[in-house]
Amino acid sequence: MFKNKKTIFLTILAVSLIFLTACGNNGEDIPQAEDNVFLMDTLVQMRAHGENAEVAVEESMERIREIENLMSKTIETSDIYQLNNNPETEIEIDKESKRVLEKALEYAELTAGDFDPTIGALVELWGVGTENAAVPEESEIKDALANTGYEHLRLNDNSAELTKAGVKIDLGGIAKGYAAEEVKKVVQEYEIDHAFVNLGGNVLVIGNKVDGSPWKIGIQDPREGRGNVMAIVDAVDKTIVTSGNYERYFEEDGKLYHHILDPKTGYPAENNLLSVSIISENSFDADALSTAIYVMGLERGMKFIENLEDVDVMFITEELEVYLSSGLKEIVEINDSDFNVIEGEKFAD
Ligand code: ADP
Ligand code: MG
Repeated sequence: MFKNKKTIFLTILAVSLIFLTACGNNGEDIPQAEDNVFLMDTLVQMRAHGENAEVAVEESMERIREIENLMSKTIETSDIYQLNNNPETEIEIDKESKRVLEKALEYAELTAGDFDPTIGALVELWGVGTENAAVPEESEIKDALANTGYEHLRLNDNSAELTKAGVKIDLGGIAKGYAAEEVKKVVQEYEIDHAFVNLGGNVLVIGNKVDGSPWKIGIQDPREGRGNVMAIVDAVDKTIVTSGNYERYFEEDGKLYHHILDPKTGYPAENNLLSVSIISENSFDADALSTAIYVMGLERGMKFIENLEDVDVMFITEELEVYLSSGLKEIVEINDSDFNVIEGEKFAD
């Protein structure tokens, strides 16, 4: 197909969540450390407060780098690269890669394939976020769909196998959540009571702020080009993971194509949503869920979340309607009057 107009937009997720982290009076004498490093294809921002803050931040970044080295699609020595490039071959993998693949398969089953770690062929075909982003031919989509399906990923004790040539793994929807949970472990080892990490929209806060109040996490206005915070969530020992159509996308012939793909159609999930934010205690699960629920859409996604314990969700639609699951009503404060919280029983069974 001839492309007459193609523009690529890539907003680095550093701007998708803005922290409001002013320190209180009694926190002055606690050492603090922070760092921003580009890892896992995104800007990782971290801050910790405590005696060991500096080494905790340093080691956390090191942990994230280790995870990237195992799970990147492009680093040739990674487990995922090896699997993707040696189909129908049993490949020995690290136990961390195994854990993430296992969890990814668990969510694939739980969501009947709305989350699918074998989405790699489609992700490559669309190329969203790369210079080659373009709407593919129907026939190309059909071929990539035939090379998508988590039944082609087999896990053994300490090895894995892609049982069909052309099938490719992509852990972009879950690996950052795993990394955030590993950062939590590092921080706890160093007895840090107050910290946050933001892996491009995967936010995790440890404890509360040094002044004893909750962390306040700002959720970015998902409309194009708006840098402002449209909601604030109070959070202690929580994670907030946002998947949005504004994060990585390109425009062709006046239409936007984003990076969250529906494994059933082969096209970007089209469901009138600007973003889905999952709020819970575990970032690993929340990351998989944010991607899956975005694919499911509002109605099915809300039901899915309401059936889970201790997991909440905030949807923002293209009409700037905000839908909150039952556990969120108290802790989210919308501070932009363009957005309307929709109340009611619309999603009750
Ligand atoms: P981000 O990584 O931008 O924060 P997500 O967590 O929603 O956002 O993950 C989106 C990424 O996950 C895509 O860039 C792609 O690598 C991968 N992906 C896209 N669609 C799916 C899907 N249906 N299931 C699993 N992974 C997906
Ligand atoms: Mg995700």
